Amino acid sequence: MDILQSMKFEEFDLAPEIIEAISYMGFETASPIQEKAIPAAIKGKDVLAVAQTGTGKTAAFTLPVLHNILQNKITGTSTLIITPTREIALQIDRQIQGFSYFLGINSLAIYGGGDADEWEQQKKALRDGVEVIVATPGKLLSHLGMNYAKTDKIQHLILDEADRMLDMGFLDDIKRIISKIPKKRQTLMFSATMPPKIEGLAKQILNEPEFISIAISKPAESVFQGVYLTYENQKTPLINHLISDQEEYKSILVFTSTKKKVNDIVRGLRNKNYRVEAISSDFEQSKREEIMTEFRANKIRVLVATDVISRGVDIPQIDLVFNYDAPGNAEEYVHRIGRTGRAGAEGVALTLINELDMEKFDAIEKLIEKKVYRAQMPDFIGEGPKWKVKVRRATKGKKPFRK
Ligand code: AMP
Repeated sequence: MDILQSMKFEEFDLAPEIIEAISYMGFETASPIQEKAIPAAIKGKDVLAVAQTGTGKTAAFTLPVLHNILQNKITGTSTLIITPTREIALQIDRQIQGFSYFLGINSLAIYGGGDADEWEQQKKALRDGVEVIVATPGKLLSHLGMNYAKTDKIQHLILDEADRMLDMGFLDDIKRIISKIPKKRQTLMFSATMPPKIEGLAKQILNEPEFISIAISKPAESVFQGVYLTYENQKTPLINHLISDQEEYKSILVFTSTKKKVNDIVRGLRNKNYRVEAISSDFEQSKREEIMTEFRANKIRVLVATDVISRGVDIPQIDLVFNYDAPGNAEEYVHRIGRTGRAGAEGVALTLINELDMEKFDAIEKLIEKKVYRAQMPDFIGEGPKWKVKVRRATKGKKPFRK
């Protein structure tokens, strides 16, 4: 069986610079929403997507748009992303800046609550025609009311978390913004849920959209899930402690999100009593297969892997999965831990979360609708960080949280 079943970004028709930027961000394979939305959006189609935070939706709508700007050498303000809160606007802007380092495309986040300097800075960027604007509705309208923003060349409109924007009472603001941008454009609308009012808005502003819905799968009940809150330097000693004299765990997978970490982890877990090996997408197919064969035959006890093998690989007897860091999104989490506890067999999946990954893991728990058991750190390793996740605050309106 080919161990690479999920789509790699190279398989999309994306510009080489974009592929390089994606690899720099450490993304290896496309998430399901990306797999469906990117090809449709590259073709110029409108898209209506049901996808929650944590599914990789931001890259699903930014990558095709950045690709189009690059391919067609578009200058000036061509892309408007509307989003409900300042936090999300900043997150999206940060992700675009991450990609843009390679692309020379500028973006600007516009949100309420700033001072006069910030206002001037936003005004200048709008006047200069910054390529991508990421904005909350109210603040953007204040700028648009002054007629210096160049909106006549906008050809991509993206509505992110549309249901939340409507819950927050932004419908009129959104309609007013849309009345100020060209009718001939591509519109991508993303929403976590699809209530009738979202369908109604979609009918008004989308043109024969491709409808995409990603159902989040849930982990099997037979997998025991635990999470350790650890500082980065505690992770390897913790894994060594948990596995070194637990012989019943014969087959152990350690997942990490980045290729860069694989070798360090292997070195840290080396042990004279059992084999620890790595597998990554950098390896030739034949080498990957050789390692997988040895792993299946229990000649390798611990395999350190990137997400390359989280889908599609069939190893019936994995006893224990570690997530060395938080997977990029909930789908990946479910796929990774789905390597254990297969066909009703008992399995254990332990995730190691440092202070930077807590928000990400919180989003994953929301999506799988389960609070994962917090395991106690062994005394000799010392205490890990405390669980701390920012409460998401809304900038305006009644209902800050999605149900
Ligand atoms: P989002 O659903 O856009 O909020 O993304 C959730 C998280 O997944 C973000 O931290 C992204 O950086 C990460 N992410 C998005 N796409 C991928 C991918 N294809 N592979 C790995 N991580 C990803």
